[in-house]
Amino acid sequence: MRRYLGIEPAPPPGLSLDSGTPRDFGDIHSTGAVMPGTALPSTDAMFNLAMSEKARPLLDQVVAFIAKHVEPITDEFFRLGRNRADHWGWAPGQLELLDDAKASAKEQGLWNFFLPDAGTGEGLSNLDYAYIAAELGKNPLASECLNCSAPDTGNMEVLERVGTPQQKERWLKPLLNGEIRSAYAMTEPDVASSDAKNIRAEALLDGEEWVINGEKYYISGAGDPRCKIMITMVQTSPDGPPHRRQSQILVPTDTEGVEIVGPMHVFGHDDAPHGHMHLRLTNVRVPKDNVLLGIGRGFEISQVRLGPGRIHHCMRSIGAAERALDLMVERGLSREAFGKPIAHLGKNMEVISRARIDIEAMRMMVLKGAKAMDELGNAEARVWVSAVKAMVPERVCTIIDQAMQIHGATGISQWTPLAGMYTAQRTLRLADGPDEVHHYVVGRAELANHTTSESDRVGDGRIFSGA
Ligand SMILES: Cc1cc2nc3c(=O)[nH]c(=O)nc-3n(C[C@H](O)[C@H](O)[C@H](O)COP(=O)(O)OP(=O)(O)OC[C@H]3O[C@@H](n4cnc5c(N)ncnc54)[C@H](O)[C@@H]3O)c2cc1C
Repeated sequence: MRRYLGIEPAPPPGLSLDSGTPRDFGDIHSTGAVMPGTALPSTDAMFNLAMSEKARPLLDQVVAFIAKHVEPITDEFFRLGRNRADHWGWAPGQLELLDDAKASAKEQGLWNFFLPDAGTGEGLSNLDYAYIAAELGKNPLASECLNCSAPDTGNMEVLERVGTPQQKERWLKPLLNGEIRSAYAMTEPDVASSDAKNIRAEALLDGEEWVINGEKYYISGAGDPRCKIMITMVQTSPDGPPHRRQSQILVPTDTEGVEIVGPMHVFGHDDAPHGHMHLRLTNVRVPKDNVLLGIGRGFEISQVRLGPGRIHHCMRSIGAAERALDLMVERGLSREAFGKPIAHLGKNMEVISRARIDIEAMRMMVLKGAKAMDELGNAEARVWVSAVKAMVPERVCTIIDQAMQIHGATGISQWTPLAGMYTAQRTLRLADGPDEVHHYVVGRAELANHTTSESDRVGDGRIFSGA
C-alpha cells in the first residue's frame, strides 16, 4: 500500500495547479469595451437581448398578419401549383394570392424589415429582426409576403451598401418594392466553392463591356420567371493577389449567353419554379459599370454578405424548430401505443425536453449573434455569425428528425410538412456554407487566443462561403 507523504505532485509543464480559476475576462459588468479572452468577443450591452420598445408592437402585428393573411392562403397556394401546366412557371391564381398578401403587408408597413441602418430608412436592428424572423420561419410563404426572403435579402443588402446610385435605381428599387426577384451566382461544379478563391468563371474587359464565360450550379431562385438579376462572382484578375482576384458583377438574367442547363435536384426534388439552377455563361456581355464596388473587390463585398443576411436563415430556423416541436407534442399526445400516449413511451419525454432546451439555447445564440452585429459591427461579429451557423441547422435537423420519428410513417409523408422542413434544414448545412467551414472559423479564432503562430492568428476573412 502507498502512503500519503503530504507532497503535492507537480503538474506536467504547461498545466497549472490553479485549474479552477477562470482566465481574466476583465470586469465585465463595469465596462462597455470588448471583453478579451474568448473567440466570441462580447460587450456589456450584449447581455441585453430584449426586443426594443419600438419593435415590440411590430412583432405582434407580424404574428397577427401571418394568422390573418398568410396561413389562410398557404394550402391553396401550394394546391394550385401542384397541377400547373408550365412546370417552370406559376399556375393561374398563385401569384395573385401572393401579391395580394404582399400588398396588404406593404400597406401595414410590415415590409423590408431586414435592412438595418439602411439609407432607405427601412429595417430594424439585427436583434429586433431576429425575433420577427423566427415568426417568419414558421410558414413557408411568410418571408416573401413581407419581402424578407432569400436570396433577395442578401442581394438587396449588398446593393444598398455598395451599389452606385444607378445600380440602386435600376435593381434595388424594384427589389425593395417586391416587383422582381434575384439570384446569387457563385458556386461552380468543377471547383471546391466553399473556398471562394477557387472561383474561376472569367470576366474580361473588352472596351466598355465585360465578357463573361463560365459555369455555375445550385443557383437558387434562377428558375423563377420573376428572377431578373444575378449578382455573379467571377475572376477578373487571375494574376493578382489571391484576395483581389475576384469581382462581383450584376448580370441581368435575360442577357444573351445566359443559359439554364437544367435544375439541380435537392433530395430528388427540383424545387420548381424557384429552382437551384445549373447555368452556363457563354460570352455574356454586360456594361463595365455593372461591377459592384470595384474590380478585384469581390471578397470585400462578401464581407458585407457576412453580415445580417448570413444569419437570416438561422433566425428563421428557430421558427421551424418551434413548429416541429409543436407537431411532435401534438402527435405524441394524440396517438396511443402499448396503452399509453406515444409522448409517454420510452425516452420520448426526454426527446421532447431536449428539443425545448436546444431551441432555447439556439434562440439565445441567434439573439446574441444578432446583437453582436448591432454592437460590434459585421466585421468584428463574424465569429459569432459562424458560431450561429455552425450550431443551428444541425440541431434543428435533429429536432425535425425526431418529430418525424414520433409521427411514424406519416412523419415522412406528404401529410405533414416535416419531410420538406427536414430537407430544407439539411440543405442549409451546405447551402449556407458547410458546417465545417463555420467550425473552422470559430476554432481558429479560439486557437488565436492561445498561440503566437502566424497561421493560427490570421483573420477568418480569408475563408468564406458566399452563400
Ligand atoms: C439547395 C442549395 C442551394 C444553394 N444555393 C446557392 C446559391 O444560390 N448560390 C450559390 O452560389 N451557391 C449555392 N449553393 C451552393 C453552396 O453554397 C455550396 O455547395 C457550398 O458553398 C459548398 O461548396 P461545394 O459544394 O463546392 O463544396 P466543397 O467546397 O467541394 O466542399 C465539400 C466539403 O469539403 C469539406 N470542407 C470544405 N471546407 C472545409 C474546411 N475548411 N474544413 C473542413 N472541411 C471542409 C466540407 O465537408 C464540405 O461540405 C447551394 C447549395 C445547395 C445544396
